[in-house]
Amino acid sequence: MSKEITALALHGGAGARRSRDYSREVPHMQGLVETARDRLNAGAAALDVVVETIAALEASGLYVAGRGASPNLSGRYELDASLMSGADQRAGSVAALEGFESPIAVARAVMERTPHVMLAGEGAARFARREGFAPIKDPEGWFTHAGSGEDNHPPGTPAGLAHGTVGCVALDRSGRLAAGTSTGGVFQKLPGRVGDTPIIGAGTWADDVAATSCTGQGEYFIRTNAAAQVAWRMRLAGESLEAATGEVIAGIGRLGGDGGLIALDARGAIALPYNSQGMKRACLHPDGRIETLVFES
Ligand code: ASP
Repeated sequence: MSKEITALALHGGAGARRSRDYSREVPHMQGLVETARDRLNAGAAALDVVVETIAALEASGLYVAGRGASPNLSGRYELDASLMSGADQRAGSVAALEGFESPIAVARAVMERTPHVMLAGEGAARFARREGFAPIKDPEGWFTHAGSGEDNHPPGTPAGLAHGTVGCVALDRSGRLAAGTSTGGVFQKLPGRVGDTPIIGAGTWADDVAATSCTGQGEYFIRTNAAAQVAWRMRLAGESLEAATGEVIAGIGRLGGDGGLIALDARGAIALPYNSQGMKRACLHPDGRIETLVFES
């Protein structure tokens, strides 16, 4: 495990469309990476930086997560989030959580304050209430519907399961990896639908080999155990991060799914593959270089 190297990547979802303007998202993502870089260089833990970065993405209302989430077919906002700490493989998640501003903060509390990994639905909301998390008082005033212009396709069209999400992976100076993901899920989802985002191993994974956060049509990421598959390919098949992530996205494509992922290994290598039109993404390389992109260049 490397020491003293820091690296980070974040995404704002793989639902990007060429017809849309991302002039707000690009500087926002760039600013978040700069803030995260300063935190990591000052010795902050990867887990803290992942949670802070995702909370800022949620709060911005610019992405389909947290404040930018879109409603399900019943007009309700059921949000999913998860978090994993690579050094000790602790994890926490919430699924179909209604009524709270920051699902990633609640996921962290599930990890730290309960013996469980995942809480869902009303049980998750009851826990969040009991732990004092900020409730959303006026959902119509709170949610910004960030992605509704981006991914406005009726279900059943070729673009069905249009989507958006946020995520972050980080490597801190002590060599610890962490990953987290938060989403409003796919557009016009059925009530109760849970995607890959809160499922440890599907949408989020971190161990001492790699940290991964996925975005895309979650059903395909569940069916391929996508996030954990990256680390297992590296651990058991000796693949590089680039090869492992490329294979995972290729496998999703073969099943007919689309999306992408951000991944980081313990040496600071970064991979950001996707097979959708674009993926809002930014990263900090170990040499200090920052890249922020939505499409290929
Ligand atoms: N993967 C998320 C889900 O299926 C959506 C997304 O990443 O855009 O809920």
